[in-house]
Amino acid sequence: TVYIDYVSKPDELKVKGSAAITNAKGLYFINPKGEDKDKPTQIWTQGETEANSAWMPTIDKPNQKTTDEIYMTVPAKYVTLSNGLLITQKKNADGTRTDYWKMDLPHAPYLFFMGVGEYAVIKDSYKGKEVSYYVEPKYASVARGIFGRTPEMIKFFSDKLGVDYPWQKYAQIVGRDYVSGAMENTTATLHQESAYQNARELVDGIGWESTIAHELFHQWFGDLVTTESWSHITVNESFANYSETLWSEYKQGKDAADDHNYDDMQGYMQGPGNILKDLVRFHYADKEDVFDAVSYNKGGRILHMLRNYVGDDAFFKSLNNYLTTNKFKAGEAGLLRLAFEEVTGKDMNWFWNQWYYGSGHPLVKIDYNYETPGKAMVIIEQTQKTGKVFRLPIAIDIYTGAAKKRYNVWIENNIDTFTFNYSQKPALINVDADKVMLWIKTDNKTAENYVHQMKYAPNYLDRKEALDYFAKKNMPELALGLSDKYAPLRKNTIEKLEASKIAEEAKIIEAIEKIANTDNDRKTKAAAISYLAKTSNAKYKALYEKNINDSSYSVAGAALEGLIALEPAKSYELAKKYSTDAKGSLGDVVNEVIIKEGTEADFDFIAKRFDEMPLSQEKVMAIAPFTAYLEKVQNLANVKKGIDVVIKFRNFIPEQFRSFVDPMILGELNKLGKTKGKEIEAYIRNGFK
Ligand SMILES: [Zn+2]
Repeated sequence: TVYIDYVSKPDELKVKGSAAITNAKGLYFINPKGEDKDKPTQIWTQGETEANSAWMPTIDKPNQKTTDEIYMTVPAKYVTLSNGLLITQKKNADGTRTDYWKMDLPHAPYLFFMGVGEYAVIKDSYKGKEVSYYVEPKYASVARGIFGRTPEMIKFFSDKLGVDYPWQKYAQIVGRDYVSGAMENTTATLHQESAYQNARELVDGIGWESTIAHELFHQWFGDLVTTESWSHITVNESFANYSETLWSEYKQGKDAADDHNYDDMQGYMQGPGNILKDLVRFHYADKEDVFDAVSYNKGGRILHMLRNYVGDDAFFKSLNNYLTTNKFKAGEAGLLRLAFEEVTGKDMNWFWNQWYYGSGHPLVKIDYNYETPGKAMVIIEQTQKTGKVFRLPIAIDIYTGAAKKRYNVWIENNIDTFTFNYSQKPALINVDADKVMLWIKTDNKTAENYVHQMKYAPNYLDRKEALDYFAKKNMPELALGLSDKYAPLRKNTIEKLEASKIAEEAKIIEAIEKIANTDNDRKTKAAAISYLAKTSNAKYKALYEKNINDSSYSVAGAALEGLIALEPAKSYELAKKYSTDAKGSLGDVVNEVIIKEGTEADFDFIAKRFDEMPLSQEKVMAIAPFTAYLEKVQNLANVKKGIDVVIKFRNFIPEQFRSFVDPMILGELNKLGKTKGKEIEAYIRNGFK
């Protein structure tokens, strides 16, 4: 045994002789001296990628595995959390307490964790193992509303993988000022504050549920089998990303899963430069670069295509094979291929070479030709100009009325032509009938094809594509989306109808009224109420009054929009009346009105409201209206106070994100400075650093 007498000094860590790197010091003290009265004192650690070696001596590489024991001595009022089990707690004479945590199963050093703070610990269980949620005491009553599905998730993933949850317990803790989303430390996941929602926000949905699933799935993919190097991060992150779809499919249904899949695919498509990156990244400038939409979003969609190709049974059996073969060891993309080949008996090199060790995605043009009687031709052209031709196993469904026949074909050339004989001309030929392809397509279907697709094709994307087409072409069939079985499509249809030519048709209004009164999905109901609000028709007053106190912020916000539309002169009064507990959509409506209508006398109220908004995109968006309000304020002392609040918020944004927001914030402040003159301009110059 080697003992190392060691005092860690993460705050003194320097890189390249420059300032302390705040994002790699591993160990973080939050409000350690209690100077900020509004913030609790906490400690948390963040190891990934190689930062835990800033606070403990270790070989800080992901291919290392070791057990660990951690002793934490803290003032008695704090609770602690670490990996594995809490073995003993010892009270010390000086008012402190020493907690001994032991992890007796090997895991990678970057997954070691320490958390300390004043937390309420809410406990559930899975097969006798503790499942716990560490939240600030004021969130104790909603902890189960946020995290309470975790035991069901553990069971679902255990069953799917055929590998029962492998660790001693599962805890989740929420840390202040943690900005990396969440981190799958073994048995002790850390979440950022966005996980917190109050009871009313939860009525509109659990915003953090995908992340909860993601980090839990890492306990298998990442923690039980760990990437051997950062180049192979796909074997951690693509799986965790895809688990969000798996959970969604089980809990909310296939439409929700397909919706999530599609959104994530767009996330990858929209990132400039993503198209050039291989999934397995042998070359990178910085190891942090591999945590991107290629490793996450694209990798997740690649797994979705793989599942579709080999089928569910073989897919999950292959995952089981990979996990059981490599458990408590390191994994990589090649080992994953071997696991799939062993189970399926197929050579999978072509798939791995194309998707794991290659980059990009196909751009395709799909045309249909019925010129030869009795024959339907489908012509699929790959139009990407990269020289790379993709090989794609794909399903084509041919519809006659409601009946359809499936053909499984391979796309493998620049242009592939598939010919199908028919006795009755097909109403629809649906290429990529399972809607799983990672591609960008131009599909030259007719309006009639899309109407048929809307009525008979089963998938979320079939209906979404059709509705998008109807909206683009101003077709009345857009209204079909109002009765879709999937709530977000109903909501989306309502929003599209607002901008359409048929927005005010009696039949449409009638359908929207019905949704506003009876839809079970609160966000859809809210969209319908908001639609009616824009008519400024007094007959809906009772509807708004009935919904203004709805527990859902979305519904209440839409109802407030309606009341304001009926009595614009009273908008400020109404907004102020409902401002006490106004978040989400209700908060947006209230903020907009208060800032627009507010006078000099409202300064304290408005500045406080802005100041107390949590770090969020909403708050970033509120800067422009807030500084516009400050332009109306004559009292320069108050203008300065207002500037202080803006700069305080800006300084709270972690340095690595400031380059995204600084130009906007400074632009708004300078605009304010110009209208107020030299004194305020100088004040801004001195304050904004
Ligand atoms: Zn992850």
